[in-house]
Amino acid sequence: MNDFIIGIDLGGTNLKTAILSRDKTLLAKDSRPTDAESGPDAVIDAMEQAARDVAAAAEAPLDRVIAVGVGAPGPLNWQSGIVYSLTNMPGWRDVPLARILAERLGTPCFLENDANAACYGEYWLGAGQGVDNMAVLTLGTGVGGGVVVFGKLLRGIDGTAAELGHLKVLRNGRLCGCGARGCLEAYASVTGMVKTAIEGLETHNTSRLVELCDGDLEQLDGRMVFEAAQEGDALALWTFRETATWLGIGIGSIINYQNPEKVVLCGGMIAAGELLLDTVREVAKANCFPVPGARCEIVPAGLGGDAGVIGAAGCALDRCLETETRERLA
Ligand SMILES: [Zn+2]
Repeated sequence: MNDFIIGIDLGGTNLKTAILSRDKTLLAKDSRPTDAESGPDAVIDAMEQAARDVAAAAEAPLDRVIAVGVGAPGPLNWQSGIVYSLTNMPGWRDVPLARILAERLGTPCFLENDANAACYGEYWLGAGQGVDNMAVLTLGTGVGGGVVVFGKLLRGIDGTAAELGHLKVLRNGRLCGCGARGCLEAYASVTGMVKTAIEGLETHNTSRLVELCDGDLEQLDGRMVFEAAQEGDALALWTFRETATWLGIGIGSIINYQNPEKVVLCGGMIAAGELLLDTVREVAKANCFPVPGARCEIVPAGLGGDAGVIGAAGCALDRCLETETRERLA
């Protein structure tokens, strides 16, 4: 009987790997720096080795591994398993990653967009457990998104659905990394939050923030804003309220559109806890209809940095079972 699933989260900085039993118990995990500069061959070797290492640590023979799931930033094709390219990782061009790993490990391999994998992780084993309809927002340098509808990832015809960070919250607003203006990401990412703080200096005479970055605003980061807010600094607190307000506006639209049971927030920014969440909840409810708003909970993530690697495994199991069912019915 096949009993195990392996998840791999291929990030530009770290390569994370985990093995779980079929009943969703995490048995072993591994994290190693991604040697991205050495190119795809070296990275794929490291992925194969990491998968073998976690299997050995869990005393799981590879022929009892049901599937391997890989989450990667992409752009990629989740169906064909081809990575078109990887941001900040040189040499990746049309690499059939799923096929290569499947051949090397002798087990089916499935590729996912990393934000979708993290979303599925929270659904499968994190803050969304027991919920069938949910959305996930990952608040980092950008804002990643994922949506689960009746237990399945929302993918769209090209697999590009659920880019929640690029919901528009303001006409002619700030320029976003995607080239458009007024995206949620431009305000609710950590980068956006820091920008809000810097803009706020124009209307706040003094701030602890200026001291924390030694007067060099280019050095200002999310951690400093959080630290100053904890000390009660007026500008930092205002910055959090502003950021939470933008986030609440975006989430209000998500609630109206999807009618989810939960919206899960991931990323370092959620360490701010109620400082962020109270305003997010209040603004989101004020910006959606009463019925979807009443039941939807806005909650912090349950898996932290492991959502991606656990979700990659969960997605792989789901897709494996789907393929089996399809074949049985054919
Ligand atoms: Zn955008």
